[in-house]
Amino acid sequence: MELPFAESYKIKMVEPVRRSTREEREIWIKEASYNVFKLRSDQVYIDLLTDSGTGAMSDRQWSAMMLGDESYAGATSYFNLKESITTVMGFPYFIPTHQGRAAENVLFSALVKEGDVVPGNSHFDTTKGHIEFRRAKAIDCTIDEAFHTELIHPFKGNIDLNKLEAVLKQYPKEKIPMIIVTVTCNSSGGQPVSMQNLREVKALADRYGIPVCFDSARFAENAYFIKMREEGYAGKTIKEIVKEMYSYADMATMSAKKDGIVNMGGFIAMNSEEIFRKATVFNIMFEGYITYGGMSGRDMNALAVGLMESTEFDYLETRIKQVEYLGNRLIEFGIPIQRPVGGHAVFIDASRFLTKVPREQFIAWVLTIELYLEAGIRGVEIGTLLADRDPETRENRYPALEMIRLAIPRRVYTNNHMDVIAVAMKNVWDRRDQISTGYRIRYEAPIMRHFTVEMEKI
Ligand SMILES: *Cc1c(COP(=O)(O)O)cnc(C)c1O
Repeated sequence: MELPFAESYKIKMVEPVRRSTREEREIWIKEASYNVFKLRSDQVYIDLLTDSGTGAMSDRQWSAMMLGDESYAGATSYFNLKESITTVMGFPYFIPTHQGRAAENVLFSALVKEGDVVPGNSHFDTTKGHIEFRRAKAIDCTIDEAFHTELIHPFKGNIDLNKLEAVLKQYPKEKIPMIIVTVTCNSSGGQPVSMQNLREVKALADRYGIPVCFDSARFAENAYFIKMREEGYAGKTIKEIVKEMYSYADMATMSAKKDGIVNMGGFIAMNSEEIFRKATVFNIMFEGYITYGGMSGRDMNALAVGLMESTEFDYLETRIKQVEYLGNRLIEFGIPIQRPVGGHAVFIDASRFLTKVPREQFIAWVLTIELYLEAGIRGVEIGTLLADRDPETRENRYPALEMIRLAIPRRVYTNNHMDVIAVAMKNVWDRRDQISTGYRIRYEAPIMRHFTVEMEKI
């Protein structure tokens, strides 16, 4: 008999979680203004709000923490991290930042100005936020296949080269500071970008003289999918694949809270000394001195180890198989999800799940709250509230997809937890016809409103 698959680690430390009753959850979610971001974590049984900064560090990372050098300038931890980034991604220059959006803030302060356009594949919300904050525009050039949830395509994060070239033709070079390729593409469902696409985007960008920046939060998961799905890569190691990926980038922003497997941190890395110098000015202003930029030495040390671990095949196989396991259980129950399942999360197609809720009442938001009420599971809306208002018209932007994302933290939950999630979702699925009304907004912030929005039941 063939041996079954099991995790590539064993557990050394545990953290208790607590179940609750439906009555308790009814009260808690009301007190939270029907916004799961406002719940206390001890009111949550299984927390799938995000895979960002929620992973479990390894014994090696924890021991590297003890060797952290907290010197203000020139800490050994900085050099450990620099070496790790150069080894994994190949960039000679890097700037630490406190997280991914800080990397965007610093880099875009140096490169993006009013009236610019930044083409890419479904820019992440903070990325888009930092572009629009500077009165520039993010232009989505993702392939159309990405917006059909049931359509099987191995690389739904790919950039449509025709769409991209149309942008490069329409605007002068001075108005396009960079092309952003998000690997994997978070906003379209954790979907990977193929090596061929990366290669072609870089060739096109070079023809127009535009630099390419990888938004790298889940670069290692992207490399895993290239190994598993793209011809010619099955025999290569993840580290070889990652190296080739970054040979098609001029720079990168990184939220280390994802594939860095740390709880806090980020960086910018680049080939150009000129961009490094420009960005350094803003880093000192916003983040901290060049050799720590918002990170403590111990955190830089943990990240240096994390980058090496996240680019190991066994780690990635365990992780992505768990996400797939949850996806497959949901598919067995007939629940409409984004396919194929992405790297870090399962995305449920809320418009096809709750067909009676009008989109003006925030379909995916409704489903997120139903799942919480059902079993204390916290997912997150990737829909109209996240898509925010159009900066000019101030009208709600209705995105192509209304989804709820169940993000799986790295090395945290077991497949028994996955089973609980799947059955809870099925229970909501079984009573979906009784759910026909949603929520209206009581308070919202002018930008990135989903984090703090307060809602009331209609
Ligand atoms: C998380 C994320 C960011 C922002 O990073 P933070 O660490 O949350 O600030 C940017 N881009 C992508 C693709 C991300 O997933």
